[in-house]
Amino acid sequence: MVARVLEISGLSGLVPIGADLVLCATGSTWAEGPVWLPETQSVRFSDIPGDRILDYSETTQNLTVYASNVEFTNGRTLDHDGSVIQCSHGLRRIERDDHGIITPIIDSYNGVRLNSPNDVIVAADGSIWFSDPPYGITVPIEGHPGEREYGDHFVFRHDPLSGETRPAVIDVEEPNGLAFSPDGSLLYVSDTSAASHPEGGGNHHIRVYDVANGRCKNGRTFAVIDDGLSDGFRVDLAGNVWTSSATGVLVFSAAGIKLGDIPVPEKVSNVCFGGPAGTDLYITASTSLYKIRTLTQDTAIAARSAAPSRRGSR
Ligand code: MG
Repeated sequence: MVARVLEISGLSGLVPIGADLVLCATGSTWAEGPVWLPETQSVRFSDIPGDRILDYSETTQNLTVYASNVEFTNGRTLDHDGSVIQCSHGLRRIERDDHGIITPIIDSYNGVRLNSPNDVIVAADGSIWFSDPPYGITVPIEGHPGEREYGDHFVFRHDPLSGETRPAVIDVEEPNGLAFSPDGSLLYVSDTSAASHPEGGGNHHIRVYDVANGRCKNGRTFAVIDDGLSDGFRVDLAGNVWTSSATGVLVFSAAGIKLGDIPVPEKVSNVCFGGPAGTDLYITASTSLYKIRTLTQDTAIAARSAAPSRRGSR
């Protein structure tokens, strides 16, 4: 179903002229954490307050409940072997879902529990990077009340070979969305701390860092989201950042210049590239999942297109 006639501006070369915003499915409480699954040609995403994981099949165009009572999962990504790595607010951990077999990956730092991991990405070297803001322990419908056991909110880098988990970014008040630039030399981190300051204050911007040898330096503000927050985002092959906001999807160039926006009729939480050609942008927005055709894709999709699943090789 076409959701609305779009008034897209500034995205020529990125979104086809006349592209429709399509309403794929609705019925979530707060949709988040989308990832495209090439194996099943579907989008898996979280309904965080609904405490379930949903699956939208591009083949059948049906929405099904993949799992319920999932301890309030949030963001997710694909590991290099094709299994899903996801954030669990309720269990305060990063976990793997390999065809329904759930195993914990990271649940502590320095001997204490994490806050409530929110979004996760995998670097080219296989390291797992995740943000750890407090929403799963401070927002009752998104997890379980709890304490900030290490007393802060970091972005962590986990090395699956050594087992080491250490802070990679410590100067973002409440880190949320994460993505690397196409060559992995930059890490983008959104700060959604404005959500914790309804009276005003906090941040609603994306920071960017230089990445070298698994460490982040030279943090600077990349883009400010004027209306709403950058909860989650993806970076396309040209380095453009496609981010959520209150009014739709905003697209910023690699230089941080706003190129244009895709209006969406509900507050957007996150996006992912996918679809049969990898060029559809799926948008989780409040109660619904939308999609729109684009003329690009992200590096993870492109890499998988070039080299099919390495499943079975590990
Ligand atoms: Mg998020």
